[in-house]
Amino acid sequence: MLNVVQRMVFVEIPPDHPRYLSLKIREKLVEGFLEGYVVPQGLIAHGRGEAFDYLIGEETIEPARRAMYAAVAALLLARHPVISVNGNVAALAIDDVIELAREVNAKIEVNLFYRTPERVRKIAEKFRERGVEVLGTDDDELCTIPELHSERRKVSCRGIYIADVVLVAIEDGDRTEALRKLGKLVIAIDLNPLSRTARAASITIVDNVVRAFKEMVKIARELKQRPRQELENILHTYDNYRTLRDVLLYICDRLRRLAEDRGLVIEPR
Ligand code: ATP
Ligand code: MG
Repeated sequence: MLNVVQRMVFVEIPPDHPRYLSLKIREKLVEGFLEGYVVPQGLIAHGRGEAFDYLIGEETIEPARRAMYAAVAALLLARHPVISVNGNVAALAIDDVIELAREVNAKIEVNLFYRTPERVRKIAEKFRERGVEVLGTDDDELCTIPELHSERRKVSCRGIYIADVVLVAIEDGDRTEALRKLGKLVIAIDLNPLSRTARAASITIVDNVVRAFKEMVKIARELKQRPRQELENILHTYDNYRTLRDVLLYICDRLRRLAEDRGLVIEPR
């Protein structure tokens, strides 16, 4: 089976392919899968994300940008901010995660739904190659959080365990809810506005991690110059219900416009 997949990976994607970028992104995940740190379930999750990305038009929409401002404000105001990474996030956005963590002074923690010592080690190694140490490895002191079962309970005692603000991306709803129950402010990057994660998070960024982390780095550079009072104001006036509502309305409006647009039909070139 692996041989078949390996052969498929090396098929050259022509740069003039209309979906070149999307195909390159898929390749990154397949590479991560072959390297053994992206799980097959992660590939399925990506397909789900792509479907929602079509619905928002594969761009950062206004409600997502609004959520990013609140999220960056929360990270900058936090005492112990942590960015949680899994296989998909490492495959798609590792350099931007590192950059954002630097800008907001956050720790990075490997936290896996399908945790195995080997996957943790491989993801940590990706960061180490870039000169960055991460929390949540088996060398780290691990604490258990209530609410979740078995391996999924393990978090770093210096990281998520004591964090007041946790950023999760491409995360499972159950874990997002568990973090909220522990009283943490949870920022989620999730393309599906209807997922449990999107609905349980304190701040939901409905955007692709490929765009979202990059954009948040820019926003962090901007907000770092502003007085603390202004950051508090951005955070305290933020309303996540409004964000989710506006994302759904955006999708409705967009689909209606598309339905009425004759250009929807692609004529053969
Ligand atoms: P939930 O558990 O939150 O109800 P789920 O079970 O459908 O959601 P999970 O596999 O637990 O999905 O979480 C993955 C989430 O990440 C999905 O909502 C998916 O749409 C989203 N996702 C996948 N790829 C990306 C991406 N590249 N950027 C942002 N979000 C993504
Ligand atoms: Mg899930």
